Amino acid sequence: MSTPALPDARRVRILAAGGTIAMTGQAGATPQLDAAGLVAALPSLAGRAGLSAETLMNKPSAHLTLGDMLLICKAARDAARRGIGVVVTHGTDTLEETAMLCDVIHDAEAPIVFTGAIRTATAAGADGPANIMDAVSVAASEHAAGMGVLVVFGGEIHHARCARKTDTTSLVAFSSPQTGPLGRVTEGHASIWSRVPRNPPLDPHDIDRRVVIVPTTAGDDGSLARAALSADPDGVVIGTLGAGHLAPALLELWAEAAQRIPIIAYCRPERGVVLTGTYGYAGSEQDLRDTNIIPVGFLSPQAARIKLLACLASGLSIEETRWAFSQDDG
Ligand code: ASP
Repeated sequence: MSTPALPDARRVRILAAGGTIAMTGQAGATPQLDAAGLVAALPSLAGRAGLSAETLMNKPSAHLTLGDMLLICKAARDAARRGIGVVVTHGTDTLEETAMLCDVIHDAEAPIVFTGAIRTATAAGADGPANIMDAVSVAASEHAAGMGVLVVFGGEIHHARCARKTDTTSLVAFSSPQTGPLGRVTEGHASIWSRVPRNPPLDPHDIDRRVVIVPTTAGDDGSLARAALSADPDGVVIGTLGAGHLAPALLELWAEAAQRIPIIAYCRPERGVVLTGTYGYAGSEQDLRDTNIIPVGFLSPQAARIKLLACLASGLSIEETRWAFSQDDG
């Protein structure tokens, strides 16, 4: 009997990078399964026409370097450029960052889908196999074409620009605080009910730049900001309170730095925007928008950092960086 083709015409390539999905053992789990091992655990996928698998590396998230992340993303993008749908299996701890980087460089139609697992491959009720099955069906789906990079986890479909790991142990570990999921996978079919606009792609050669995230808190006296700037970063992603508010002295400090290096401002709440004209007190969003600081209320701080690394490494000026982030000031 011939093996059935994938649901849609698109070929799919699984690229394994590591994470819990590849780990075995209950206590003291470490990455053991390569791409072939992941596929072998899924009899309905193994030997399926149009499916291939490759091991890129086998690392936990905390061991991945910026170079590793770019290598994973370029391998995925290069397959997508050949019209192949891609599934990247990855540790969940930093999956959102590699997925974001991949979305920044993805310039083709074929879907790239990131997934992983919360439970190891040998745990009771391991979720990795179901997540791979769902991710393969999304990567093969024509409905997902042109959407950029997606995260498929726990039966939900998220966009890489919105997805965050919001639970350390739940099988639905990812959510999209800004938008909610874009769709779901049921009975091997992807249902997609909303889309996120794509950004113009960048193509950095490397992303080895220094970008730090500096949050802010009540009563912030600027000592963390001064320490960050004294380390001479290439750019900084700064937290703002509410809808883009800072203590006046802190805003002054960042505004001065924003004349020299890109300073990207996110909102501390997980959902929302940097406002434009609601408040008028010193340090409010109106003052922030009068500076050279670039507001990106739509992105998480970790997603904004990844995009800024790519902008810097692509040689973008501060004004070009503002343009690259313009769709993220939602
Ligand atoms: N807990 C992580 C995972 O789910 C470990 C990692 O990110 O590598 O994969």
